[in-house]
Amino acid sequence: MSTIAFIGLGNMGGPMAANLVKAGHRVVGTDVSPAAVERHVAAGGTGAASIAEAVREADVVVTMLPSGREVSALYGGEKGIIAGAKAGALLIDSSTIDVDTARATAKAAAERGLAMIDAPVSGGVGGASGGTLTFMCGGEDRAFAAAKPYLEAMGKTIVHAGGPGNGQAAKICNNMILGITMIATSEAFVLAEKLGLDAQKLFDIASKSSGQSWSLTTYCPVPGPVPTSPANRGYQAGFTAAMMLKDLKLAQDAARSAGAVTPLGAEAAALYGLYAAQGEAGTDFSGIVNFLRGK
Ligand code: NAD
Repeated sequence: MSTIAFIGLGNMGGPMAANLVKAGHRVVGTDVSPAAVERHVAAGGTGAASIAEAVREADVVVTMLPSGREVSALYGGEKGIIAGAKAGALLIDSSTIDVDTARATAKAAAERGLAMIDAPVSGGVGGASGGTLTFMCGGEDRAFAAAKPYLEAMGKTIVHAGGPGNGQAAKICNNMILGITMIATSEAFVLAEKLGLDAQKLFDIASKSSGQSWSLTTYCPVPGPVPTSPANRGYQAGFTAAMMLKDLKLAQDAARSAGAVTPLGAEAAALYGLYAAQGEAGTDFSGIVNFLRGK
């Protein structure tokens, strides 16, 4: 059994921390939301009033925060995680953030002799609750090996993507593919409608042809062909348009910083920006098909 500090007990962090409790660890949780800490205590965890209190005795610190801004703020500073963690503690950031902040934070941790990995996830709230998340990890081999048993308590697929920041790189590259293919798939269904081609027929053909993708066969943006997709429940999220927009913006920031040419990624970010601005930020990202219909 280890003592684990868990910071950021939101939609994802709450159930992830609960799975660490179920695995037999002492999990000391903290969050700016008192209600989130109360839920953690009800799930068998221990509450802490501050970052310093949470990390003081922790063998492992896990963070699950909204963005790079919070990660920088909470890891840095005199009262931050890096300054307050005990010698030999392992740091795991599972938030989805920009690659540059992930690398700078891992460097600051290494300067204090602390091992750190970035370990963003895919699998959503369902994966967090069911302990079936995919973790994409960046960090030194030793840090990854030390983190793996803890990640296995929260996920099913754990991949080491390379050095510090490479977990975030994998996450934004994957989600850039996802955003672009969802728009492409949606455009095809809208065109098919206008050409008098039945949606199910297009699905039957494209799913067995070169147009096949996860956006089509698992998350089909029109109701009918894939009964479990959000299109069948009024585009209730799932994965919100706001989250897709966040990840596409991170991909664009990374592309600018690395000098990569990603014109379709840029267009996808612009389209999701327009869609979200129409009051659809909280709608599932596959709802962009309605925006493309002009609705
Ligand atoms: P969330 O907003 O539900 O949770 C974030 C938590 O961090 C909140 O409880 C918030 O109160 C807490 N927090 C913010 N600032 C804090 C601070 N200064 N100190 C302590 N706690 C603080 O978000 P979420 O859906 O759990 O997502 C967390 C991360 O996971 C994000 O980076 C998101 O992009 C990523 N992610 C989310 C999903 C998803 O489906 N929700 C899927 C994959 C990845």
